[in-house]
Amino acid sequence: MPLHSSVVAQSTLGLHSLEHYEPLIGASSLERISRKADRVRTMRIAHVSSTFYGGGVTELLTPLTLMQNAMGIETDWHLIQGTPGFFAGTKKLHNGLQGEDVDFSDTERAVYEEVVFENATRIHLDDCDAVIVHDPQPLPLISHFSDREMPWLWQCHVDLSQPFGPTLAYLRNFAEQYDGAIFSLPEYAQDFAVSQHFVRPAIDPFSPKNCELSDAQVERCLSGHGIPTDRPLVTQISRFDRWKDPLGVIQAFRLARQQVDCRLVLIGSSASDDPEGAAVLEAVKRAADESVIVLAVDDPVLVNALQRRSAVILQKSTREGFGLTVTEAMWKGAAVIGGNVGGIRHQIEDGWNGFLVNSPDEAAARIVQLLKDARLREQLGSRAKESVREKFLMSRLLEDWLDLLISYERIAV
Ligand code: UDP
Repeated sequence: MPLHSSVVAQSTLGLHSLEHYEPLIGASSLERISRKADRVRTMRIAHVSSTFYGGGVTELLTPLTLMQNAMGIETDWHLIQGTPGFFAGTKKLHNGLQGEDVDFSDTERAVYEEVVFENATRIHLDDCDAVIVHDPQPLPLISHFSDREMPWLWQCHVDLSQPFGPTLAYLRNFAEQYDGAIFSLPEYAQDFAVSQHFVRPAIDPFSPKNCELSDAQVERCLSGHGIPTDRPLVTQISRFDRWKDPLGVIQAFRLARQQVDCRLVLIGSSASDDPEGAAVLEAVKRAADESVIVLAVDDPVLVNALQRRSAVILQKSTREGFGLTVTEAMWKGAAVIGGNVGGIRHQIEDGWNGFLVNSPDEAAARIVQLLKDARLREQLGSRAKESVREKFLMSRLLEDWLDLLISYERIAV
C-alpha cells in the first residue's frame, strides 16, 4: 500500500470525535466541551466557502465540519462556483484586504456581484440555524437572503492589519449586513457596525498532515518525492503567493549557504481559487539554482514528513492571516523561523519557541545559527510543540465555535 493510503486509512477510523483529544487536553476539558455541545446539538449549521482544495480555510473546515457532525451537530459545507474572471477579481479583493493598492474596476465589480447572485439562486439555506460565510469570495451572498431568520456570520481569514481603504469601503457594504464578523486576531478588528469576534485557527493532530510518522515513513516519503537528505533541509511549505515571500526565502537561503551547507525545499500546492499561483511559481523556478528543490504537489504526508525531517522550517511571510503552516511545523517540534507579521507573531515568541524575522538578512542569520546548534533546535522545537498543544488544537477551535453558536442561539429568531 502506498504511504499516503496507509496514513489515510488510519485517519478514517473515527478519529474525528472529540474523545480522541482526551490524551492531549485531559478529561475535564473534554467534559466541558461536551456540555457546551449539548446546548447546540439540535442546531443545523451551514458554512459557505469558495474551495474544498488548498489553503487554510479548507484546513480548518475539513476537521471542524467532521467533528461537529461526529458530535451530532448537523453541519453542511457549501461551495460557491466561479469563472476564472470571478476568481481573478476576488484575488484582487484578497490582496486589497491585505493592504495592496488594487484597482477593482466597475466591470470586475459587476462580475463579482453577478456570480455571487447566481450562486445565491442555487444555494438553499432556509432550514439552517446559522450560516457562516468565509472570506471575500462569497461575501455578497447576504444581499440575496434579506428575509433570513437565522444569524449570518462572515468569517474573514486574511491579514487585515492594514487594509487598502477603497477595498475595505466596498466590502464593508456587504459585511455590515451580517449579524457578526469573525477575524483571526483582535488586531484585525474594523470599525464595522456589526459585532466582531476573534477565533484563532487550529490544527487537527490526527490528520495525515499532522499525525505521527515513523522515521522510516518519513524517509520513504521524501525519497519517493526525490528529496535527498544528504544535507540539512531548510524548508518552506506555502501556496506560491507573493505574501509568502518565496523569493525572499531564496535570498535568505543563498546568504546562509555562504556559511553552512544546506538544501532549500520550497513546496506548494495551488488553491483552486488563487489565480496568481502559476506566475509566482514560474518566478520561483527562475530564481532557484541546483541547491533549491521546488515542488508543486499536493501531498499532506509530504508536508508532514518535511516538517519532521527539516532542520529548519521557514514561513517568511510579509502578511499572514494566521499561518497554519507555522502551527503544523511547531506541532512536530520543528525549529521555525517566521516573518514578524500577523498571526505568526501570535504563535512564535521570539527566541522561546522559534524565531521571528523582519528581512532576508535576519532570516539568513537565524538559519545559520540553527543549523550550527542542534540543541537549540531541539529546545525551541519542544517548547513549540507544547504551545500548540495548549492553544492551537482543533478541540479549542471547536469550543470557540460552540461558545459563539451558544451566544447567537439566544438572538436567533
Ligand atoms: N499546504 C499544503 N501543501 C502545500 C502548501 C500548503 O497542504 O504545498 C497547506 C498547509 O499545510 C496549511 C494550508 O495549506 O494547512 C495553508 O494555510 P496557511 O494558514 O498557512 O496559509 P493560507 O494558504 O491560508 O494563506
